[in-house]
Order: sequence, then structure tokens, then C-alpha cells
Amino acid sequence: MSGEETDNPKIRRLFPKQDAAGPEVDVDQIRDLLNEMVPEPEPESASETAMVKVPETISHHAEGPDPTHPNVKPCPQCFRPTWVASQHCHHCRFDLWQHAQQLELRRQQQWREQRAATLQRTAWMLALGGFATMQVARWLPTSIGNWFFVGGFFCLLASAAYFKAGY
Ligand SMILES: [Zn+2]
Repeated sequence: MSGEETDNPKIRRLFPKQDAAGPEVDVDQIRDLLNEMVPEPEPESASETAMVKVPETISHHAEGPDPTHPNVKPCPQCFRPTWVASQHCHHCRFDLWQHAQQLELRRQQQWREQRAATLQRTAWMLALGGFATMQVARWLPTSIGNWFFVGGFFCLLASAAYFKAGY
């Protein structure tokens, strides 16, 4: 459709024909009106990469701390060098503090179990030794046998104390 055909009176113009001297169309105002009519676009959901994005200061050291630094040790999970005093591994975010806590709890548990086993072993040896000593005392002359009997009795007493501590 060319310009001349729009002069046809049968064509109803929505907007008055403009010439060079006509009023300037306020483009900004029209754009604002259109923007008000168009519903706001749905905000983009945070992508995975946006959520794990690290601050600029850290990404500059993505290769990690200097492995020769005295406070840098290999991470127990990914074996890459990381700061010993930081809670999370520089590379894999492994919780080093929680890991250390678990190791300490396990160490204490092992120590308690070993201690209990030693106490129980000692208690059984004292019990058997004391019992045997008291039996032997019967076959000895009274002067010596009395000392054996008392010695065996104290072994049994000590055995009871060890059993109490070990269980
Ligand atoms: Zn790691």
C-alpha cells in the first residue's frame, strides 16, 4: 500500500495524517504506556551456576593456596591443598571442622575401648592369681600359708576394683 492510497476517504485513519509541521509523537510516552499494558516478565529463576558463584576475590585464587605454605595441608576428601584453619576445603567445600570432630570422637571411643579391655584383662588375671594363691596357701605350712592367703585375698580385692572400672 502506497502513500497515495491512504488518501482514499473510505480508509479511516486511526491517527491523523502527520506532516513535517505536525505535533511530534512522544515516543517515550507511548513506550511507557505499552510497558504498563504488558505484564511484567517472570523473573528468571536462579540458575545453578548463579547459586554457586564465588566472590571475585576467591575466584582469582581458584588454583588454591600455596601447597608449600606451613598452614596448608591436603584435604582428607579431595587430597588437594587447602588451609588447615578454614572450616571448608578450598576446592570441594568439605567440612574440615566436622571431620576433625568426628576423628576426635572416634579416637576417644577407641581409647575408652582399649582402656576397658586392659582393665578387664588385668581384673581376670588378678582374680585367677588371687584364687590360685589362696588355694596354694592350704598346702603350705601355716606360717607361710597365712601370708599367701592374705596376698591372694588382696589380689581378689584389687580384681574387684579393676572389674568395676573396666565394665
Ligand atoms: Zn577438598
